[in-house]
Amino acid sequence: MSAGAVLGDFELTLVRDSIYWWDGGAMFGVVPKTLWNRKLPADELNRVPLGLNCYVIRTGDHTVLIETGAGDKPDAVFRERAKLPPVPEPLPAVIARHGIDPESIDIVINSHLHWDHCSGNTTITPKGVVPTFPRARYFAPRGEWAHAHEHHIRDSVAYIDANYDPLMESGRLTLVDDGAVIVPGIRMHSAPGHNRGIMVVTAESRGETFCFLSDVVPGSAHLQPTWIPAFDLFPLESIDTRTKWLTRAMEQNWLCGFGHDHQIDFARILPDPKTHFCARAWNSVESGL
Ligand SMILES: [Zn+2]
Repeated sequence: MSAGAVLGDFELTLVRDSIYWWDGGAMFGVVPKTLWNRKLPADELNRVPLGLNCYVIRTGDHTVLIETGAGDKPDAVFRERAKLPPVPEPLPAVIARHGIDPESIDIVINSHLHWDHCSGNTTITPKGVVPTFPRARYFAPRGEWAHAHEHHIRDSVAYIDANYDPLMESGRLTLVDDGAVIVPGIRMHSAPGHNRGIMVVTAESRGETFCFLSDVVPGSAHLQPTWIPAFDLFPLESIDTRTKWLTRAMEQNWLCGFGHDHQIDFARILPDPKTHFCARAWNSVESGL
């Protein structure tokens, strides 16, 4: 299975941890179903398919994993509700199927700390919670760390302390601020709206740029700046943040990765007279970037 792209000296691979299904109304906020259902058809329980998209970037010096998917924390009831596979395949095994040695991962980046982006950071074992990637240093936004530990009634359900607290206790987790350079060429940037702390990740090599858009643009059905999920805590900021990053991506011909598109691995962003932006997609079964 191959879902890779070359970016200057970097090699990029999409690793889709699995697909889960979530309420379509929650994913599209105030947008009427008659509109969003044409782009992302819902199942009989009004759920739409979402990829748990992780990206591996091999820079030559480092193997960087962005996001770690749903992991082993969701229980059976939750897994059924989200139509997750009943038994999770460990993320290292999914990565290995792409021809990448999971042991080689030395950097893990979380764009934010919601369960669907970092539950594979750690693994539950009889001996306790251990890092899934034993050689790795982990990086997450400082603002997210603070907000996650507020356990606010509005969104505490999205946070699982076992995904990051043990990493902090063992000194493996570094909290970062806007513009942080993780390794040469790879940076995290503040992108508020979905929540206050979320960051997008850019990778630059030889004048080419990849941008992981995370939940700033969950998928190609969310390219219209006003199609903001009901989850987003600050929807007006979401519109501004999305417009800013998609405009940059379009003007500079970046390669982009969406947080949750279940079909598109990589995309270029193009203008669209009706919806502002559209995507030219490229994935493992089609080509033509
Ligand atoms: Zn998400």
